[in-house]
Amino acid sequence: DGLSTITAASIDTLSTHFPMCMQNLHTNLKANSHLKHYGRLQYTLFLKGIGLNLDECIVFWRRSFKLMTDDKFAKEYKYNIRHSYGDVGGDANRRGRGYTPYSCQKILTEPLPGAGQNHGCPYRTFTVDNLTALLQKTGVNDRDLLRTVKEDVGKQRYHVACNRVFEWAHRREIKKVKDDGSWSATDLDTIVHPNTYFKRSWLLKH
Ligand code: SF4
Repeated sequence: DGLSTITAASIDTLSTHFPMCMQNLHTNLKANSHLKHYGRLQYTLFLKGIGLNLDECIVFWRRSFKLMTDDKFAKEYKYNIRHSYGDVGGDANRRGRGYTPYSCQKILTEPLPGAGQNHGCPYRTFTVDNLTALLQKTGVNDRDLLRTVKEDVGKQRYHVACNRVFEWAHRREIKKVKDDGSWSATDLDTIVHPNTYFKRSWLLKH
């Protein structure tokens, strides 16, 4: 389906389909050539979920940590990536399978990021001003929508806000698949997982 050959080099292009939680990690990784532990974990598992294989995931992180020596990368970072994929460590149960990409529920209930950390869901972790700026940067600029998102967030309905943004950003494509009957109502169920957000966005735009 075109997603079967994802490489480290594809991530930049594909990131336009990422939900805010992953776009935020992607942007910070690019800006700082680094991410802290929980951010790396959240992002690695998401990338695994979109179909990036272990070797390409290692290439992705190695390239992203631009300022780091190969030696430091190999010693301090590679193991954790392999661990996420179930290539090393863990109990027998996880061997070969690794960890499951995080759902919205998991991301929305974990401890809030501290200074210098970028994990979590921006609808929950950002101030309203910063969230608005983040959304506007990705082209979400409809005033009514932004106001409603603000209300959702005020009621702590974070994933409702996220779904609202998805529906707005894909409104033309959604109308089309509804009108021509190519997608059923279940195909457009409320999104409760970042990997569903990605997959649905990609499918609607292709
Ligand atoms: Fe990511 Fe879920 Fe938050 Fe959307 S609601 S930004 S998919 S964690």
